[in-house]
Amino acid sequence: MTDTVPDFTILGAGLAGPLMALYLAQEGYRVDVYEKRPDPRTNGVAQGKSINLALSKRALFALEEVGLVDEVMQQAIPMRGRMLHSQTGKLSFQTYGINDQEVLNSISRSLLNITLLKAAEKVNGIRFFFDQQVEKINLQEKSCQLADSNSKQQELVQFQTLVGADGAFSVLRYHMQKLDRFNYEQYFIDHGYKELVIPAQANGEFALDKNALHIWPRGDFMLIALPNLDSSFTCTLFAPFQGKNSFSSLTQAQEVEDYFKTLFPDVLPLAPTLISDFFNNPTGSLVSIKCYPWSYQDQAILIGDACHATVPFYGQGINAGFEDCTLLTQFIKKHSDDLELAFQEYQLSRKVDTDTLAEISFSNYIEMRDSVRSPLFLARRLIENLFHKLFPQRFYPLHSIVSFTRTPYSQAVQHVRNQYSIIGLALSIALLVGFVKVLKTLH
Ligand SMILES: Cc1cc2nc3c(=O)[nH]c(=O)nc-3n(C[C@H](O)[C@H](O)[C@H](O)COP(=O)(O)OP(=O)(O)OC[C@H]3O[C@@H](n4cnc5c(N)ncnc54)[C@H](O)[C@@H]3O)c2cc1C
Repeated sequence: MTDTVPDFTILGAGLAGPLMALYLAQEGYRVDVYEKRPDPRTNGVAQGKSINLALSKRALFALEEVGLVDEVMQQAIPMRGRMLHSQTGKLSFQTYGINDQEVLNSISRSLLNITLLKAAEKVNGIRFFFDQQVEKINLQEKSCQLADSNSKQQELVQFQTLVGADGAFSVLRYHMQKLDRFNYEQYFIDHGYKELVIPAQANGEFALDKNALHIWPRGDFMLIALPNLDSSFTCTLFAPFQGKNSFSSLTQAQEVEDYFKTLFPDVLPLAPTLISDFFNNPTGSLVSIKCYPWSYQDQAILIGDACHATVPFYGQGINAGFEDCTLLTQFIKKHSDDLELAFQEYQLSRKVDTDTLAEISFSNYIEMRDSVRSPLFLARRLIENLFHKLFPQRFYPLHSIVSFTRTPYSQAVQHVRNQYSIIGLALSIALLVGFVKVLKTLH
């Protein structure tokens, strides 16, 4: 298939793969990319993951570095905050940031994928091979066994350095798992997801406010909706697999109708195909993956979901995957004559951040589906936003620092802890001073 061995061989032309190819080509490397699925430009959207994604600062920065941010942003819809839908249909809006830049951007996964592929294919030195499933990897002999998805014909290709951008069930990681002292853990949460749709209205307009991420928080489960360019919304129901209000309790059309009538009464009139969609669309599972090390000598490196898949509740999965590409390129530039060192420094500095992202992604599920409804949470958000407005360079709520800055995730959490300690101390001192004053007036 390839006559010369490229500098880098990337597994996976999902999202992180083509971006990494663009970064590497900018540095003058030759890159081949193997993808098991057909070319989405000719064969439509790959099934299995979410239909749209929320992009924020980290992803936009990476796209800017490869010259694609403007094109991508033309395909995105800004979401200025969360629109909460109560069970009685009451709406309340919570802004994400303090200005027009501090927004999340809803974008179609397939459009983003296609934009990256088109841009990468124009670049000299990058080649894509679709319908090529990487089946086996021999790290010692530096070879990959490919199978053509159509003809089933097998082929062996040599590599110099492999980049595993092949997602949560990475074949490269699977082979690295057999190496000495490779740590690996995966965890499926008890909740799954199902995608549904609120189409454009008859007049072509959005059925809901298009500049919001809509949430129907219901305690143990929730529905969310993100806007699309065709004026539809992709809704995602996150719910337990088993038990009360679970996917397993919804097996008949009437049960689904009653469920939505009772729990999401404002959605049903807007989603005419909801019940058939519910039964036709798959119920996806949600996995969190951690592993280490991410590299093997100068021969292999993992990026994106392949080394740190996380539950999607912070909307940071691909933001972090794209940030991997930015940081890995920096280390490759720094140690261009010693890739093993580049990979070691990269993984050593990055792992703590993706572990932190995994933690905050789990806790954000509880925030989105439950805490957002509490008056205490609302009061805290108001105070946080006020402080952020008053001291925009110094005070950041966690969601803002994660979504609107490139502060490493672990430092973001530490920064927020410190600022709460300071606020706590200031409040304690103020209370103490007040208490002393009251005591004085009594004497
Ligand atoms: C419901 C849901 C909502 C999400 N929402 C957001 C969001 O709002 N914001 C956000 O940032 N992230 C979000 N994410 C996470 C995001 O989808 C992932 O982090 C992102 O897709 C990871 O990109 P990747 O390129 O690492 O892997 P993938 O997108 O999984 O791409 C991997 C590619 O490798 C290919 N491949 C796999 N195995 C092989 C093989 N053996 N040979 C050849 N090719 C192979 C696959 O076909 C695929 O094309 C969400 C995820 C889910 C499930």
